[in-house]
Amino acid sequence: MTIPDCCAPTTPVAVTTCPTCGSTGRTVQLVTLKALLTPAALATLDPGEAHRFCPDSACDVVYFSASRTYRQAEVKVPVFQKDGRGSAPACYCFGHTRADLEQATREGGAAAIPQVIQAHIQAGRCGCEVNNPQGSCCLGNVNRTLAALQTPAETGRAGCC
Ligand SMILES: [Zn+2]
Repeated sequence: MTIPDCCAPTTPVAVTTCPTCGSTGRTVQLVTLKALLTPAALATLDPGEAHRFCPDSACDVVYFSASRTYRQAEVKVPVFQKDGRGSAPACYCFGHTRADLEQATREGGAAAIPQVIQAHIQAGRCGCEVNNPQGSCCLGNVNRTLAALQTPAETGRAGCC
């Protein structure tokens, strides 16, 4: 880590936390914003800036840079982390929604979904950088969602009683 130099105006400020909620955001490739911003929002994009994804479910900001934030209304697709509806995609490339994961869990077929996604990834079909607003692989979201869905049914021991 370097010590910030307040006297170097030509160095871009590295903004790593969302200016609205303070969450740390991971860097997103420019191609993700180009693919998923609405036309009006894309028209204001500064390709020279670094952009990060805000993962906080309660925060309306999807992307932020040193000078600008992009909110959910400026992104063409529902953002899984921020949209709690069943219709929100967990896997954007192969079309598994939150409701699909819930249904598969109820029907006992949840384990097949990450396996299918994994097979597509291995076959080189995954396009998360242009389909998924987080700009990276969805498998973590899918696995976390499935684990959360399975916890209450699976255990009495997780409860406080
Ligand atoms: Zn935020």
